[in-house]
Amino acid sequence: MYLHATDRVFPNSQTNAVQGTIYWDALKSIWLLSMIAGGIIAIVLVPSWSGFMLFLATTAITVCAGHSVGMHRLLIHKSFHTPKWLEYTLVWLGTLVGMAGPFGMIRAHDMRDWHQRQSVCPPHPSHGAGFWRDAWWQMHCRFDLDNPPHFEIEAEIANDPVYRWMERHWMAQQLFVAVPLFSLGGIDFVLWGVCLRVAVSLNGHWLVGHFAHKTGHQGWTVEGLPVQGFNLRGLGLVTFGENWHSNHHAFPHSAKLGIEKGQLDPGFWFIKALETLGLADAILGPTDQPERDGLTRVERKEFVTSEPSIKGLNKRIVEITG
Ligand SMILES: [Zn+2]
Ligand SMILES: [Zn+2]
Repeated sequence: MYLHATDRVFPNSQTNAVQGTIYWDALKSIWLLSMIAGGIIAIVLVPSWSGFMLFLATTAITVCAGHSVGMHRLLIHKSFHTPKWLEYTLVWLGTLVGMAGPFGMIRAHDMRDWHQRQSVCPPHPSHGAGFWRDAWWQMHCRFDLDNPPHFEIEAEIANDPVYRWMERHWMAQQLFVAVPLFSLGGIDFVLWGVCLRVAVSLNGHWLVGHFAHKTGHQGWTVEGLPVQGFNLRGLGLVTFGENWHSNHHAFPHSAKLGIEKGQLDPGFWFIKALETLGLADAILGPTDQPERDGLTRVERKEFVTSEPSIKGLNKRIVEITG
């Protein structure tokens, strides 16, 4: 089977992209379960408006400026450029989301992307399982290939001492939030501003990833690939633009995710605000790099789904109306 390489993933003659094992990832699982437990205690035992507002504010900052803009659009895709101090700040805010450090995030993203570009994609990286099984697999397990490809992060990131420090102590970075919150509002604030925030961010991230590879609106498809991205309409403001996942599959280099009329993209508004302040440049749009092979505009299919039974029906409707 021919295997494609990507910027950071290089298959060799031994590489098999399908055969592997799904293991329970104890550290990841216990970490998330502890955060969920703390989050439930916040809501049930110490409910307060100030705690709730703190949760909203810290979640918005870490998920938008950190995860979506810093980690995803800047570090992983290099879709714009900022001064180094700001790049560190945004990626650090992304580490505070509590999913992984910078290298772990690049690896998870790029391995999934590599899998989804092959002719066959196994069910773990394709989100191919049903709701509960996929939740278990993505948030509590890891998928190890028997013969994995070579994975390499570019030296300027991999050897950067600041990123190495964030990576080594990615869980402990929460202390930079937890200690000030404890001194301001005691354990209540820590439960709301750390535990509940991390629990909701991780579950929300999985939910978006799950449905964005299953069903929704598509502006483009990438023909010939086993996995497609879908736009989850109506979720622009709560996902900061990460819901426009069909667009992201079509134009992965683009800093702008909500590229069609009415597609709200707060992450991109934030990047434009940085540009206005003179803190961001070289911002890439959808047409700033060559088109992906197989990129196809979806003209009439208003609602498509990956469910095979309905997919055939959809095709027929398109042929009849077209
Ligand atoms: Zn995807
Ligand atoms: Zn991406």
